[in-house]
Amino acid sequence: TEESFVVGLIGEGITASLTPPMHEREADHQGLRYIYRPIDLTKLGRPGTDVGALLRAGRDLGFNAFNVTHPCKQLVLAELDEVSDDAARLGAVNTVLIRDGRFIGHNTDFSGFGGALAGGLPDAKLDAVVQLGVGGAGAAVAYALLKAGTGRLTLLDLDPLRAAERAAALSGLFPDREIISGTPADLAAVLPGADGLVHATPVGMHSHPGLAVDLDLLSPSQWVADVVYRPVETELIRGAQARGCSVLDGGRMAVGQAVDAFELITGIRPDAARMLTHFHEL
Ligand code: NAD
Repeated sequence: TEESFVVGLIGEGITASLTPPMHEREADHQGLRYIYRPIDLTKLGRPGTDVGALLRAGRDLGFNAFNVTHPCKQLVLAELDEVSDDAARLGAVNTVLIRDGRFIGHNTDFSGFGGALAGGLPDAKLDAVVQLGVGGAGAAVAYALLKAGTGRLTLLDLDPLRAAERAAALSGLFPDREIISGTPADLAAVLPGADGLVHATPVGMHSHPGLAVDLDLLSPSQWVADVVYRPVETELIRGAQARGCSVLDGGRMAVGQAVDAFELITGIRPDAARMLTHFHEL
C-alpha cells in the first residue's frame, strides 16, 4: 500500500527515548514507511500545557499519531475528542490517534504492563499483590493488575495520601476487590502474605540508585516485577533473582507499551518478541 506513518513523542527530556527506534525498527521489518520523531519539550523550552497546540500542529502537518509522556499524560485529556474507556477510568493517556482530524486517546501503559506480565511471568499467581509506588507508572500498573484479576492489592507509597487516594479511586472502579493503602513501613507486615511484588518507584534508576525493598523479606515462591528500565537489570531484579524469585524487568513494560501503541497506530500486531530483542540491542 501507499500508506505511510508519521508519529511523534511529546514529553520532557525524551530526546534519548528508546520508543522511537523501537517503533521504526519494527516498522522496517513490517515493510511500512514509518517515521517516529521525539518532540522534546525541554529542548523546545515549552511547557506541558502546550501539548494541545503541538497536537494540532502535528495534525495540520499530517502526523498520524502521538505518544505523550510526562508531564502531558493528564494534561492531554482536555484536548481530546474521544477517549478509550480504560484511559478515561485511569485518567491518563499515552497514545493519541489522529483520525479524520479528531484526537482519540488511549493508554498502552496499563495494557503494556498487562502484556508484559502475561508474556514474562505467565504462571504468576496474581491473587494478592503488593505494589510499592503509586505515581504515574504505578497508577497504570495497579489498574493493569486489577484488570488481570488481582483480588487483594496493597498500595504502598512514601506519600500516604497519594496511596490512599489511588486506593479509593481504584476501589470505585473495582468495587469487588480489596484495595489497601499504606507506607513502605508496612512492607514487612504485608509482603509475606503476597503472591508477588511490583516496584514502581524511581529507586534503582541510574539517577536514583539503590533498593526500596529489603530483599530479606522476599521468599522464592514470590515473583517480583520492576518498572524501572534504566538499567534493565536493577538491584531489585538482581537481588530477587538471587533469592530464587521469578522476575519481570521494566524493559518488558517499556516494550509492551510500544507494542500496543504500534498496533493502535498501524492496525498491525507487531512481533513483540522481536521488539523486545531490539530493545535490548538499543
Ligand atoms: P512518579 O514520580 O510519578 O511516582 C513515583 C512514586 O513513588 C511517588 O508517588 C513517590 O512518592 C513514590 N516513592 C518514591 N520513593 C519511594 C520509596 N522508597 N518507597 C515508596 N514509594 C516511593 O514516577 P513515575 O513516573 O511513576 O516513575 C517511576 C519509575 O517508573 C521511574 O523509574 C520511571 O522511569 C519508570 N517508568 C517505567 C515505565 C516502563 O514502561 N517500564 C513507564 C513509566 C515509568
